[in-house]
Amino acid sequence: MKIPPHLRLFLLASFVLLFAFATLAAVLTWNTLQQPSRQPAASKAVIAPVLDPEQALRRLSQALSVPTISWQDPAIDTKQTFDKLHQQLEQGFPEIYKQLKPERIGQNLLIRWPGTDAKLKPVLFAAHLDVVPVENRNSWQKPPFSGARSGGFVWGRGSLDDKNSAMALLEALETRIKTGRLPKRSIYLAFGADEEIGGKGAQSLVRRLKSQKVKLAAVLDEGMVIVPGSMIGLNPPVALIGIAEKGYLTLEIKAEQLGGHASMPPQETAVDILGTALQRLRNQPLPARIEGPAAELFNWLGPEMPTLRRVALANRWLAEPLLLSQLAAKPSTNALIRTSFAPTMLSASPKENVLASQAKSVINLRVLPGDTPEMIQEHFKRVINDDRVKVRAISPLATAKASRVSRTDSEFFKLLSGSVKEVFPQVLIAPNLVLAATDSRHYEPITEDIYRFQPLFLSEKDLDRIHGRNERISESGYLRMIQYYQHLMGKM
Ligand SMILES: [Zn+2]
Repeated sequence: MKIPPHLRLFLLASFVLLFAFATLAAVLTWNTLQQPSRQPAASKAVIAPVLDPEQALRRLSQALSVPTISWQDPAIDTKQTFDKLHQQLEQGFPEIYKQLKPERIGQNLLIRWPGTDAKLKPVLFAAHLDVVPVENRNSWQKPPFSGARSGGFVWGRGSLDDKNSAMALLEALETRIKTGRLPKRSIYLAFGADEEIGGKGAQSLVRRLKSQKVKLAAVLDEGMVIVPGSMIGLNPPVALIGIAEKGYLTLEIKAEQLGGHASMPPQETAVDILGTALQRLRNQPLPARIEGPAAELFNWLGPEMPTLRRVALANRWLAEPLLLSQLAAKPSTNALIRTSFAPTMLSASPKENVLASQAKSVINLRVLPGDTPEMIQEHFKRVINDDRVKVRAISPLATAKASRVSRTDSEFFKLLSGSVKEVFPQVLIAPNLVLAATDSRHYEPITEDIYRFQPLFLSEKDLDRIHGRNERISESGYLRMIQYYQHLMGKM
């Protein structure tokens, strides 16, 4: 039989196409299978020394009733308030104060529990004792500095950020000391008193440790929590562990023109020039990419996803453009993949009938690991493409770079994540990027790794309470935090 040439061509093309599809399917499947689950196994039974839950909750409630607010205005004297909190701590944790002699540096606190093996580098648990102010006290269901206990919650400013961490760490340490069993490596607790206004306190603690030539294996600070899996498209809750935090940069862009009377305006005023510059920046944001913490997030969660997404995440060489466009569509995920850009302030002419001689906008950026302030300003100048517009940094460049990215295969990360699996068996673990700044960044010069995580489950609504209204912590969640720290400290 003779096959006509056009049919032969068609068969050949079909065969090639089929072969290409089969190869692609094989590659996609192979890559997907090459990504096994990274979730740690729960290898140890939870060991938590005896704790009196009622007393622990009472101590938290008391601590929340002391309004240790960090004010931007340095003229406001907060000494008495902080003194009161320190007195409470001394009364509440007699073993720590008797045996370990905590060191108070200003209003900051440093505690060292010496380990038995001097060759092992110590670990440090950080938290902060200050809180942000409350805007409208009357709009709270329970007064923000009452420490009220009601409906299974302890209410108050600082109950999630971050007195809960400080108090839970102290409870864990106090009960650990009472068991009489010493840790192998030394454990530090370090509490700053002004995290919310920059963390000079944490810096003074770091200086003290530096002067003692202390080199840490790891720091654990606040930053992320356990969130509902539904926020990420999964069923089980996910413990997000911050392995890096973004940098903080504020730029001013300024357009200058001759001023004059608004009755005879030129073709372009300073306001027009600035407006065009802002529009150009909006149209060409800093480039997005999946690397560092975002890549780790997907490496850890990909294998736990439903099939289609699992295949996509395992084959980023192919799916990346689609993935990036999906991530860019939501503010919370857009912030993970690029240096974010937010114009926050505008100013121009002081009077309605006067042309502005200069128009200015202030832009707040949160810098992705890998980006530098120089690169960002370069990008701005190139995109604006107008010599009449000047760009300059108005925030300190020291905080503009993101933190280092900590390892997910370090010994401490294994202990930390293993303990999550043991205390919260149903939870998945994933490294992530912290978008805000924490005190932990000050420890970078003296530690190998920094992790940012509170062992606490919070719903999406609860997350809004942080720095917001009706901040409160569930009593059972708080007790579980203590249990987690007890268990983790027991592994040191
Ligand atoms: Zn905080």
